[in-house]
Amino acid sequence: MKALSLQNLKKVYANGFEALKGINLDVEAGDFFALLGPNGAGKSTAIGIISSLVTPSSGSVTIFGYDLNTQRAQAKSCIGLVPQEINFNQFETVHNIVLTQAGYYGIPYKQALKNTEHCLKQMQLWDKKDTISRRLSGGMKRRVMIARALVHAPKLLILDEPTAGVDIEIRRSMWDLMREVNSRGTTIILTTHYLEEAESLCRNIAIINNGAIVENSDMASLLGRLHTDHFILDLERPLAHAPTLKGFDVDWVNEKTLNVAVPKVLGLSQLFAELAAQQINVLSLKNKSNRLEQLFMDVVDANKGEGK
Ligand code: ADP
Repeated sequence: MKALSLQNLKKVYANGFEALKGINLDVEAGDFFALLGPNGAGKSTAIGIISSLVTPSSGSVTIFGYDLNTQRAQAKSCIGLVPQEINFNQFETVHNIVLTQAGYYGIPYKQALKNTEHCLKQMQLWDKKDTISRRLSGGMKRRVMIARALVHAPKLLILDEPTAGVDIEIRRSMWDLMREVNSRGTTIILTTHYLEEAESLCRNIAIINNGAIVENSDMASLLGRLHTDHFILDLERPLAHAPTLKGFDVDWVNEKTLNVAVPKVLGLSQLFAELAAQQINVLSLKNKSNRLEQLFMDVVDANKGEGK
């Protein structure tokens, strides 16, 4: 069963900007799926369309077999959305925020109370149920957002940057909660800027760039293709020109600074051996970019000119 299927989905905004250029994407039921992409790639547009906040220009969206256009109510009831910004009334209690949401889905009061209790316990917020939400920590507020999105027991949970701005310890504890939600059968689609988060949680991944899907595969094989590290080397003595180092791509930044691509199969020791053979001494080196940036650069570079 497919949790989500996007077919040739296009979005042209009123100003003529083509934010989605006909994307196709399938997410299987039960998956924990990462949707990644640089800023402006079209992630929010895609998520907006899936959650009925943005109207597509053409194409179709199917959610657990329901067509979002012709079976909108059924399709929508399958989805829980956790948007990026905290958007509940901060003067209400935690319990009320979640319970009221159940009302929007027409869940009878008794059932709504049960669901509210279940979701608050699941998000480890039951002891905070009578707290005015304004007084909660940032991490707790984010968990209220998730509890609220889960109250109608959606089959598909969409998390848009759920841990943006929370510190690493809280982020990791939220990962455990998200894993638990997924392990109980809820399909999750996650957008994030933290590759570590996607890597740790998600089984499958799509990367979107300039309104097109440039990569769609399982996480393990994608990461396996990240086979090059980039380093900036500060040299002891100025060079007249960029050296030729066998097996390495060398970019000349200036006479005392080189940018070197180091294939993992060769590694740094091989690089240093090559440099030593040419009497080039390195004062210091730093890793040029994190894995997320590198992933984007590799994938986006490899797809330049495609999907446009
Ligand atoms: P992401 O979430 O990946 O950062 P978005 O989906 O928000 O990307 O935006 C994709 C592109 O569409 C961006 O270039 C953005 O400026 C443009 N865009 C978004 N919303 C509108 C709008 N309402 N009108 C015109 N352009 C928009």
